Amino acid sequence: MQVPFNAIAVQDAAILDEIVAAMTRVAQRGWFVLGEEGDAFEREFAPTTGCAHALGVGNGTDAIRLALEAVGVAAGDDVVTVPMTAAFTGLAISMLGARPVFCDVEPVTLTMDPAKLEAAITPRTRAIVPVHLYGQCADLEPILAIAARRGIPVVEDVAQAVGAQYDGRPAGSFGAASSFSFYPTKNLGAYGDGGAVATNLDTVADKVRRLRNGGQSQRYRHVELGVNSRLDELQAAVLRVKLGVLPAATIARRVLAARYDEGLRGVQIPQAAARRRHVYHLYAIRHPQRDVLASALAAAGVGTIVHYPIPLHLQPMYASLGLARGAFPESERAGDELLSLPLYPGLRPEQQDAVIEAVNAFTAQHGG
Ligand SMILES: *Cc1c(COP(=O)(O)O)cnc(C)c1O
Repeated sequence: MQVPFNAIAVQDAAILDEIVAAMTRVAQRGWFVLGEEGDAFEREFAPTTGCAHALGVGNGTDAIRLALEAVGVAAGDDVVTVPMTAAFTGLAISMLGARPVFCDVEPVTLTMDPAKLEAAITPRTRAIVPVHLYGQCADLEPILAIAARRGIPVVEDVAQAVGAQYDGRPAGSFGAASSFSFYPTKNLGAYGDGGAVATNLDTVADKVRRLRNGGQSQRYRHVELGVNSRLDELQAAVLRVKLGVLPAATIARRVLAARYDEGLRGVQIPQAAARRRHVYHLYAIRHPQRDVLASALAAAGVGTIVHYPIPLHLQPMYASLGLARGAFPESERAGDELLSLPLYPGLRPEQQDAVIEAVNAFTAQHGG
């Protein structure tokens, strides 16, 4: 049986007519950037973020970049984040001319380790970016406490965790600002690129609203050096439909994850920490012979992906930071052992059983 790693058309089959109708509505209206679909989406999406304001932007990377700029990060500043994340988290920091400084992750949740945060803060640290990896919040309470003591704003990278919670509150509602990605494979995915910044601070919202639109305070009056990064009307229309099914899709992901938890043998399964509601953007297992396991699964027709094989501090683009292997051992070990299995709404039980059987057959033969 073939089990693709992901299948967006399968996920959206039941709402495809509605999505096409929404896109047609935009085409017929003839207004494509910063219009009523975007306004409506921002209004409808804000409650999911737990924030008063949600601002659509071009992609999740720009969302981090604009959130950082809006909370005061500038060239020459340091921003603390984790090595175990999508490289785009680091790029957003570097785009501002700021320097990423890394804090290693907790060995089990693979989110920012609060016990290592103080040591990563420098006199130039102007923001802390915890990443809610795979759909699970970082341990926000101690991170926020350390940040508050030093007066450093926190920007949550919620690209993978829309709908997740910490102590019953939505991911994205804890920091001075938070960033979301609507890249097609994310839990709330557009049919192209998209992103959002969420915040409860009016000043941050106003700044992002200006920055995303060329720094204009009013039409053709540019008061600061902004960028061009807007969520277009077609994407906003698609996202409005998909937002309606997000709660059900999240439940479907959690049910599939529980089924994997139950069936898998001989691999380290993801752990949902206390206080954190995991939304399983990814279901990443660990095995010391990860590459051999991935090949065995591929031979059995099961698609897998490694998120992420190279921690940020070892990426060639960051060679100038001068960080060698050994600097962040938890991120490095995870990069060697992680393997994401197929998990998405619409994955059929017999497909999931095939994945479980293939993994268990491998570990029965090769050990855990
Ligand atoms: C996807 C992702 C991003 C980047 O989002 P884009 O929309 O692809 O720019 C940033 N951080 C994390 C953790 C992501 O998963």
